[in-house]
Amino acid sequence: MKTAIKTDVIIVGAGPTGLSLACQLIRYGVDFVVVEKKEGVTAFSKALGVHARTLEIYEQLGLAERAVAEGTIAAKARFIEGGEIRGEVDLASVGKGLSAYPYMLVLEQSKNEQLLYDYVLAHGKDVAWQSELATLTQDEAGVVVEIKSAAGETRTIEAKYLVACDGAKSPVRHLLDLKFEGSTFERMFYVADARVEWEFSHDALQVCLAKHSIVAFFPMPGENRYRILGSFPEEFAKNEGEILYEEIESRIKSEAGLELDISDVRWFSTYKVHTRHVENFRKGRCFLAGDSAHVHTPAGGQGMNTGIQDAYNLAWKLAFVLQGKAGEKILDTYNAERLENAENLLNSTDRMFNFLAGEDWFMNLIRLHLFPQLAGRALGIERVRKDFFKRISQIGINYRRHALSRHDGDGDFAVKAGDRMPYFPADGASVYDCLREPKFHLLMFSDGASDYRSVRAEIESEYADSVACHVVPLYSTVAEIFGTNRPFSVLLRPDNYIGFISAENSPDELRDYLIEFVGYAENQSRITERKTLRDFVGV
Ligand SMILES: Cc1cc2nc3c(=O)[nH]c(=O)nc-3n(C[C@H](O)[C@H](O)[C@H](O)COP(=O)(O)OP(=O)(O)OC[C@H]3O[C@@H](n4cnc5c(N)ncnc54)[C@H](O)[C@@H]3O)c2cc1C
Repeated sequence: MKTAIKTDVIIVGAGPTGLSLACQLIRYGVDFVVVEKKEGVTAFSKALGVHARTLEIYEQLGLAERAVAEGTIAAKARFIEGGEIRGEVDLASVGKGLSAYPYMLVLEQSKNEQLLYDYVLAHGKDVAWQSELATLTQDEAGVVVEIKSAAGETRTIEAKYLVACDGAKSPVRHLLDLKFEGSTFERMFYVADARVEWEFSHDALQVCLAKHSIVAFFPMPGENRYRILGSFPEEFAKNEGEILYEEIESRIKSEAGLELDISDVRWFSTYKVHTRHVENFRKGRCFLAGDSAHVHTPAGGQGMNTGIQDAYNLAWKLAFVLQGKAGEKILDTYNAERLENAENLLNSTDRMFNFLAGEDWFMNLIRLHLFPQLAGRALGIERVRKDFFKRISQIGINYRRHALSRHDGDGDFAVKAGDRMPYFPADGASVYDCLREPKFHLLMFSDGASDYRSVRAEIESEYADSVACHVVPLYSTVAEIFGTNRPFSVLLRPDNYIGFISAENSPDELRDYLIEFVGYAENQSRITERKTLRDFVGV
């Protein structure tokens, strides 16, 4: 009998979520095993939209440049109704000033998976392909799973934690007996990658609006190549396997209401989705991430991006606990933060879908007659533009109401604990350039009058393994974004969300945060000693 494989984390599933988690765990030096029942990364384009927040995460991995080079920036959206262009919006720099990636990138899921898989390989790790999780048990000490290979052999893997990144039908979710709550109504979508000959230039996302349905054409690399994505109306009763491509093509043509010729179809598929999320992203030592934890319509292209960010949120917490730098309770914040995000996501994608393809007559009126003309003008308004970009790109997600956000010092600031670190250019570069180390980051914004050397030296000697310190000039953009001209400091979690903001620049605040909020274990006794001395002797 073969001995069990031992590791820290078992990742089930090597889709974009599982591969992202693997990449993040590599950054933190955590040992893991990824098991995947398929033979390799997907060959299908599936999800297409890569948003700014995901590109910021890719940037930390050194993958953003390649992603942007391989993808296409959606420069414009053109709204077509009844065969006529009804309106156009400029998307090329819709997020100007908000991110180093102020656009939506069109890059197929297959290429995202390849990018992430190449990172895994480049760091000496691999995926156990053709390995299917068959059983799972857990107790207080760890998780044990049995894996079946394509040849029918079984292996046992023992780990401290397991993360289910095994997709919408998630066998792990079933084994854990977790409810997947939401609508029972399934919506059917079709997708096709094809060449389209028509009168429109290849530089825009073309959205054809029709009564009760929608069909969108995403420009892809290659002459006149598009990903076509559409939905079937609610009353459509067929199942996935029963639909022929011809039926989809005639639907595309009638809904687009245009003279167009579709050829060289390289892939087409239909898929159904509910709108659901799991009741809890954690059960014991097992966690769920990506489609195993939430599914929704493709409106806004959020699915793949959300899975990548679930992984990003969880990775540092697992790493810190495994390395003894955080208490176990920090793991509960994963469920709290990402469950709230999933609930909001389901609501917003449902609203977006109902607006774009719903049955309501009033919405139809707005969608077909007002929206195409007004959308461009609305995005011309600074506030609307920023709000739109923050929502669609996921940079606006915040964890303000959650346990890792300490608010006692942020009252006077325009930015709050729990927000993503706002982007700003610093000396021609991006502030994110100095935030790549997988640690907490203490940013001390200085007006040049104070000397931070001793604070910095103290923190760096005490927390060398978990906190990086930076002294940053208080640029006018920083003053504007944070709403202050005075020096202040910001503690960023390793996923670049703000832990606290403070007008003070003292190591004590950092120590207290790490102990109270993070459960920083190693220094606990030393700090208690310090507090005791201060309390009793007054030093
Ligand atoms: C045809 C199609 C088109 C889509 N188009 C869009 C789109 O346009 N926009 C959008 O946002 N989203 C789209 N999606 C959804 C998007 O693909 C998902 O949101 C995304 O794939 C989620 O990634 P994931 O890694 O969480 O799950 P998945 O990509 O589903 O990966 C899960 C992995 O787990 C593996 N697995 C499952 N069970 C086991 C087991 N027992 N043992 C080992 N491995 C296992 C599976 O083989 C799979 O590789 C589309 C999906 C499909 C199917």
